[in-house]
Amino acid sequence: MAPKPRVRFAPSPTGELHVGNARTALFNWIFARHHGGTFILRIEDTDASRSAVSYQKNLLNDLNWLGLDWDEGPHKNGAYGPYKQSERLDIYRKHLQKLIDLDLVYPCYCTEEELEEERHALILSKRMPRYMGKCRNLMARERIKLENEGRKPSFRFKVQPQVIEFDDLIRGSMKFEGEAMGDFIIVRSNGMPAYNFAVVIDDHLMGITHVIRGEDHLSNTALQIMLYKAFGFPPPTFVHHSLILGKDRTKLSKRHGSVSVGEFRKQGILPGALINYLGLLGSSFTEGREVMSRDEMITGFALERASKSGAIFDEEKLRWLNAIYIRSCRTEDLIEWLKPFLEQAGYKTDAIAAKWLNEVIDLVKTELTTLAEIGSHIDIFFDDKFEITAEAKKILEKEDAVQVIKAFGEYLKTAADNPQENYLAAIKYTKEKTSAKGKDLFMPIRVALTGKVHGPELDKVFALLGENAVLKRLKLVTS
Ligand code: GLU
Repeated sequence: MAPKPRVRFAPSPTGELHVGNARTALFNWIFARHHGGTFILRIEDTDASRSAVSYQKNLLNDLNWLGLDWDEGPHKNGAYGPYKQSERLDIYRKHLQKLIDLDLVYPCYCTEEELEEERHALILSKRMPRYMGKCRNLMARERIKLENEGRKPSFRFKVQPQVIEFDDLIRGSMKFEGEAMGDFIIVRSNGMPAYNFAVVIDDHLMGITHVIRGEDHLSNTALQIMLYKAFGFPPPTFVHHSLILGKDRTKLSKRHGSVSVGEFRKQGILPGALINYLGLLGSSFTEGREVMSRDEMITGFALERASKSGAIFDEEKLRWLNAIYIRSCRTEDLIEWLKPFLEQAGYKTDAIAAKWLNEVIDLVKTELTTLAEIGSHIDIFFDDKFEITAEAKKILEKEDAVQVIKAFGEYLKTAADNPQENYLAAIKYTKEKTSAKGKDLFMPIRVALTGKVHGPELDKVFALLGENAVLKRLKLVTS
């Protein structure tokens, strides 16, 4: 029996979690759950100038919010830690020494400016920009001289002329020309490991069986395979999924709109909807299904079926799915998700009777596309938020409408306290008294009760407002 897969999500905390990276995390997570394997979270924070603790914190929060729980990683025990690269520097140092001993690396003293000049010259002469190996064959005394000038070396891997080949689970057989790459840096002049170096060591030492990541890493994989060979490590299986694109088919970025998980969270997208949507993109599932629970995704997922071409991100579709998730969410749970949005819109949730709020949310939830819209859907139930829209005002200007509202109120003032029955009886009375029917009957009452021309079922609004509030509003709009 094949060993259980071990996969990892290895973000660099240099910004907010992009939906593209969240999708990579999702693919890894589902793959692990589908096969009963292990999902590892590794923080790739060796670029101190770009990494920030706040990004790291948000990253963990976002993954938790999405429900992508990791089995090993920060705040989890695991036999392969530490799971933060900045805490693994000794390991990288030892591995650099191994390659030095094998004479597979050399120190490079070129400065940024010198490298830029070389790049520039190569581009001008229409050649592929890469490092041409200036420091590869330095004599010992030349090295000493450069060091005496105060230069700190980076370490470069000696690339041999070769064809690098690997089988990608989505893309099939891949081939790269080694020579075209140039000797690449594995340890920077500040002593920090470069991505391609650290990732190979970590993936090997952490027993990663499948590396699942975006296709933007394909050429990195070629470099990494050279390092696997140099160390004598067996390479894992590589899986490069397509990227998320904007409508113009370029890589999804800020100029297309919202791109981070945090932004969608703030807009009131439910995590289940976002996960469902990201899973749908690139259709890794069966038979065109669009709404899928997490468990269904885990069962139906097959990486091999993922599309090779980029998937276009469609915010409209995400909102459409979100509306479905909101509608089918248990009202008690939905209220928990809604609380921060209610507070933000100026509703003091602690001061609202729980049972009543439950009924209100139950009534309006079918109208929501995002949680952030909640304020403008429940304002009709709060006197201090009650407002009459311009459209509604036009209705109230009609004499017939005023008569309808007055008749409705007349009945209520004399009726016993039984909201459900009273509503129907008041409608009947109004109809008989004014001979208004259909829209002419209901619209004035709707406008009087809610200040709007659209809204939830009127009998339910009536019951939730209670007769006193209804009478107050009838008076307000007809005085
Ligand atoms: N830290 C890399 C990134 O965020 C990881 C890529 C990989 O999965 O190897 O792009």
